[in-house]
Amino acid sequence: MAHSFPCILCGGPVRRPLFGIGSDRFWRCPTCGLVQMNPLPAPGGAPGEDYAGFDLENYRKFMAEFRIPQYERDLALLRKHAPGGRLLDIGCGMGEFLDVAARGGFRAFGLEPSRTAAEIARRRHPVVRGELGNVEFKAGEFAAATAWSVLEHVPAPADFLRKVRGLLAPGGCLALRVPDVRGLLPALSLAAYRLSFKRVDLPLRVLYQLDWHYKHLYGFDRRTISRLLADNGFEAAAVRSEPSFDFRSLDLRMDYLPFGGAAKSAAKWALGLVLLLARLFGRQDELVLVARKKG
Ligand SMILES: [Zn+2]
Repeated sequence: MAHSFPCILCGGPVRRPLFGIGSDRFWRCPTCGLVQMNPLPAPGGAPGEDYAGFDLENYRKFMAEFRIPQYERDLALLRKHAPGGRLLDIGCGMGEFLDVAARGGFRAFGLEPSRTAAEIARRRHPVVRGELGNVEFKAGEFAAATAWSVLEHVPAPADFLRKVRGLLAPGGCLALRVPDVRGLLPALSLAAYRLSFKRVDLPLRVLYQLDWHYKHLYGFDRRTISRLLADNGFEAAAVRSEPSFDFRSLDLRMDYLPFGGAAKSAAKWALGLVLLLARLFGRQDELVLVARKKG
């Protein structure tokens, strides 16, 4: 495949495909290591309604059992660097983190593109429906911003970070969570795809959310996300490795997989083992960062 394009992070030439599923093609930059989809999906179309046709009850259980306790730890980390004030949660979903931030003393505001989710969050918090590029906030009006599992979905992450920087007051902090492509689970998913001659693509499809409206467009690791933040006016204040699920929440996470019975049970135990090994070897599959606005 004679195709080459400049890396969005370092500008170097990207030529080697990493994997391709359907029309989605992912590449890894040989210079900086950033994983990137190219070409990007065509812009436009209706904003995603990923929450429609979704098992809400299951989702809420997963949030309550796994994500909300994690959000509480993440908020404690953020508070070491941004003690309070106005906080904007970008991609606030149904407002679970807004609940945690408001309980933790922030004046919490949300931004969310999904109509369903924004309406649910708006019952409890001030939430604007939209994306960062098409809503107006005052420059410097927030002491903190959060973007949990957002940046990997954004077509132009550098523009996104510069916009967030503009919303933050001097010394303000951004906390974010991104998947870590160096995690054991993504590494094994890629190995399964390659060793099976591209037949076993379900793990990669699930990890990169390729069957959803909002797919992952980028795959970061510690180095690439730190460089992206530094290039766009932030300095890293804290980095932490986290898992994207725990053993207890696996049943809820696996609910939509297209198989059941013994296969599902075997997958659950295999994933449990991966979870344990990833923790032991420091290869968990998500990164949480707090970055401070420079200058
Ligand atoms: Zn690069």
